[in-house]
Amino acid sequence: MIKVPHYGPYPSPIMIVGEAPGSDETLQLKPFVGKSGQELTRMLHESGINREECFITNVCKYQPPKNDIAQWFSNKTQAKKDGTPCLAKRYPNNIIAIGLEHLRKEIEIVSPRVIIALGETALWALTGESGITKWRGSMMDLNFLGEGNINPLIRVIPTYHPAFVLRVWETRAIAVHDLTRAKGESINLTPIPDYDFLVRPSYSATIDWLGDLINLLANTQTPIRIAVDIETRNRHIADIGLATSPTEAISIPIMVRGNISGYWDFEEEFMIIRLLEIILTHSKSFIVWQNGPYDLQYIARYWGFLPRNDFDT
Ligand code: URA
Repeated sequence: MIKVPHYGPYPSPIMIVGEAPGSDETLQLKPFVGKSGQELTRMLHESGINREECFITNVCKYQPPKNDIAQWFSNKTQAKKDGTPCLAKRYPNNIIAIGLEHLRKEIEIVSPRVIIALGETALWALTGESGITKWRGSMMDLNFLGEGNINPLIRVIPTYHPAFVLRVWETRAIAVHDLTRAKGESINLTPIPDYDFLVRPSYSATIDWLGDLINLLANTQTPIRIAVDIETRNRHIADIGLATSPTEAISIPIMVRGNISGYWDFEEEFMIIRLLEIILTHSKSFIVWQNGPYDLQYIARYWGFLPRNDFDT
């Protein structure tokens, strides 16, 4: 097997991490020189990033069979049999595990301000998370394999892998947008805001949060802007989220897997919906929806009231 080394200067403010080299990279001993690499160069250029000024590397330094890195991950049963260790909920083989340790050292040497994680494998290695569609464009802490933040001065910005962009062309503009964000971040590191997000709160925390908001509404002269969104599952309301600022939000579950009667007991759910009704119909609320007509029909149907509809993104 032929190892494809990193390419580019170090230290460097921007580090780019892909998945694994393909045939072109293995021939030229340079990462991202094939079709997806050429597309990456064009997208970087459009984002104001000069590729030659970036340190470019891969999670895995060797070309996987049939260019399919999944072949170098085991499932849980196989991993147990073989004694393959679990890293951030996945079971990479030794070739990837060695690449990961290499990557860890590369980050130290490069000391970047921003690491662009291209695709699912890089996202997993650098943050321990999975789901590139969900995470792309986010400004994340470096949390190598989910082991904890090793350097608060480094940001990770994941985006779609250029090979995926070539297959699903509509994603290109989004990837360029994310790369532009990475460029900005490489010049001017913005602090990660102090998020106050309540996710799956207890009943008392939910009532307190909603109650505090009702108190604010009762005492304000100017309307309070509240962004609201519901998720539905099987044509029922699964949860509702409310945000009163970019850093303050609550996500209230209504449905839950494994309990057909819902997340709350009847009285609890009744009380929560009653408080939501007060907020969502309040004269001092300014409710912002994301595709409100969809949400409003569900709320009217299942909760029996029609919320305000002040703005829709
Ligand atoms: N895809 C990658 O993830 N890395 C490369 O170097 C080339 C293609």
